Amino acid sequence: APALDIDKIRQDFPLLQEKVYGKPIVYLDNSATTQKPQVVLDTLERYYKHYNSNVHRGVHHLSQVASEEYEAARDIVAGFINAREREEVIFTKGTTDSINLVANVFGRGVIKAGDEVIVSAMEHHSNIVPWQIMCEDRGAVLKVIPMDEHGDLIMEEYTKLLSDKVKIVSVAYISNSLGTVNPVREIIAQAHAHNIPVLLDAAQAIQHMPLDVQELDADFIAFSGHKVYGPTGIGILYGKREWLDKLPPYQGGGDMIKTVTFAKTTYNVLPFKYEAGTPDISGAIALGAAVKYIQETGLENIHAYEEQLMNYAVEQLSKIAGLRFIGNPKHRSGAISFLVANIHPYDLGELLDKQGVAIRTGHHCAEPVMDFFCIPGTVRASFAMYTTKEDIDRLVVAINKAVSMLQ
Ligand code: PMP
Repeated sequence: APALDIDKIRQDFPLLQEKVYGKPIVYLDNSATTQKPQVVLDTLERYYKHYNSNVHRGVHHLSQVASEEYEAARDIVAGFINAREREEVIFTKGTTDSINLVANVFGRGVIKAGDEVIVSAMEHHSNIVPWQIMCEDRGAVLKVIPMDEHGDLIMEEYTKLLSDKVKIVSVAYISNSLGTVNPVREIIAQAHAHNIPVLLDAAQAIQHMPLDVQELDADFIAFSGHKVYGPTGIGILYGKREWLDKLPPYQGGGDMIKTVTFAKTTYNVLPFKYEAGTPDISGAIALGAAVKYIQETGLENIHAYEEQLMNYAVEQLSKIAGLRFIGNPKHRSGAISFLVANIHPYDLGELLDKQGVAIRTGHHCAEPVMDFFCIPGTVRASFAMYTTKEDIDRLVVAINKAVSMLQ
């Protein structure tokens, strides 16, 4: 039985007490962003009210407190993902920013004309376009691991793509459009057998299951604060020190330097080398608070609870006439995508919204996935630790009502 006190958890999230069109909100768009617990809101307010100040600069008291809290947040995140060293945790703006950082410095530091980069067929645009930009710049080639009609990667094809030309593999741990949990351990093991580093886009994994970077042995991991109950504008890049030390810097500016002259600049040590300029100080500290909140709840508990929810959702949604799942609903996590009869997802989404049910419709920033299935988009319901069976029941009722209005 899940060890989560859902009623108590829901009380911690002020937004869940809100109404939409006079109805209690059913928030099933957690893959897009999660709601924030009161501790995160309090942390933001406490920073601005009591110790707002720039970090790593001032000799004065406020700056010291801000710097300590900012660095304490780094320790919390390092512990959360079990990083070997805290210096391997870089604060970024989010997943997109983290992937752009790696694509940029890898491109400038490693990639030569004719080299190859591997992504998968189910990537979010933010794990496609940065690599395309870099490949175009360097004369490199982007290769794609194909998927089958169930939305599963075809691993035999991946094996065939691996060669000495491949310099990095970058794949999603969990697909945001289909919910597919990819066999990342196998992906990493095969890449490492060829000495190829792997970046994991963990934007949809980190909030749903325990993730240990040492056990996974991924070389880079990217995720967003706002999808793990933290604020927008802050995210994480984890990178193995051996890579971050030898790759060139990304942005230039304050904090990332050791000494500057017009003749020659030397760069700061990790993690500051990759944190140019004033960072999102309040965001980082509040992300630390969000991670602590997750740790207190326990990712094992959250995972077990959300698995039950997913099974329940599959069971209940399956009863709707004309509903078909996009992707195999058997091994999905966090999100479930579907279509109903020939109803356009957008029309369904609008009618669900009017009933207070927030889901996402469209291509979910994964246009190649929609092209693969020859569909304009899907309806996606996605879960968080505060989602309930009642939310799913209300979703089902709302879909049935919408369908009867549209048909
Ligand atoms: N990758 C995946 C798998 C995602 O789900 C998302 C967000 N939908 C992103 C990357 C991009 O995250 P962000 O917009 O927070 O940078």
